[in-house]
Amino acid sequence: MSLSALLGQPRASSLLGGALASGRVHHAYLFAGPPGVGKTLAAKLLAQALNCESPAAVDLAKRGAFLDEPCGACPSCRRISDDVKRHAHPLVLWVDTEAAMQAAGLYQPEGERSASRAVGVRLIRELVIPRLALKAMGGRRKVCIVRDVEMTEAAQNSFLKTLEEPPPDTTFVLLSSMPDALKATIRSRCLRVTFQPLPLELVAERVQKARGLGAEEARLLAALAGGSLGAALEIDPKTLAKRREWIAAFSRLAGDDYAGWLGLASALGDRPTAADATELLDTCETWMHDVMRVAAGAEPSVNVDLAREAGALADRLGVEGSLFRLGVLERARHAIDGNAQPRLQLERAFLAFCGIEALSLASEAA
Ligand SMILES: [Zn+2]
Repeated sequence: MSLSALLGQPRASSLLGGALASGRVHHAYLFAGPPGVGKTLAAKLLAQALNCESPAAVDLAKRGAFLDEPCGACPSCRRISDDVKRHAHPLVLWVDTEAAMQAAGLYQPEGERSASRAVGVRLIRELVIPRLALKAMGGRRKVCIVRDVEMTEAAQNSFLKTLEEPPPDTTFVLLSSMPDALKATIRSRCLRVTFQPLPLELVAERVQKARGLGAEEARLLAALAGGSLGAALEIDPKTLAKRREWIAAFSRLAGDDYAGWLGLASALGDRPTAADATELLDTCETWMHDVMRVAAGAEPSVNVDLAREAGALADRLGVEGSLFRLGVLERARHAIDGNAQPRLQLERAFLAFCGIEALSLASEAA
């Protein structure tokens, strides 16, 4: 593996490659970007490059520089490229949620308390700080990588102190798909490296190879995943079937078929969870967005396999009708995000498609 393996992230790879080659590696990086676009891989490659034991790397280290293409084969590189959850390299610390660190045997919550799904302050105090106090020998560097998980306010405050007075020979890498959730004081101490959504063709090509799919199906997964290779690799075929079913129903129902629309709203069961309802709304929204695009003379951007169906609905609704439905769906999503009852919101939204807006369904369903 090399930094050039960061396909589709030319800026990130040239920034990191340049820092390694010149030996001017910043003490803290923030890798910011959506999930599944190569942040974790980049952190792993950086850790390898800083600790590679190949003759070329050892030679460069004497001059204070690093290989920008770690060998991937020396014992150090191999340990780092092992499944990251195994924490196999003594100088590379992957900080994950308390629960994950406990599962890895590196952390034990106090007393009866159960490990949380965030990075808590005790994890920073009892594991991260002591581990970083260890000395790195022979010009190697310690690398502390904080995975893309929630960090509590107290943990951030404690971590900030470490960033302000970093232990020697240490490089921090924070991975985040929501960098704004980090304190501004943490962000300002890190050099930000921005990771972009990957080009559709690249994701499709990788997915096709990795999952042994046909070109068209791979392209569809890439489009549905919105440029995230990680997400495209994980989409379940069952999800695809469900999406087709929903879109077919959504497209078939006429504007006065009240019973049909209520049936679609109840397809998720009597008491759908907010997550289920949001999944349905996501599908409907990307679909209406595509229909609107087709009505305006463009191609579908997500549902690339359903261009013909999008054309048929675009003929019926036009740009204005599509925009109206999009607005209704967005309102329903906001309401559900604000804890409104999901089933009720779906029913209201779908009846609004039939022109029934003002009825006070709220009192009925409470
Ligand atoms: Zn190596």
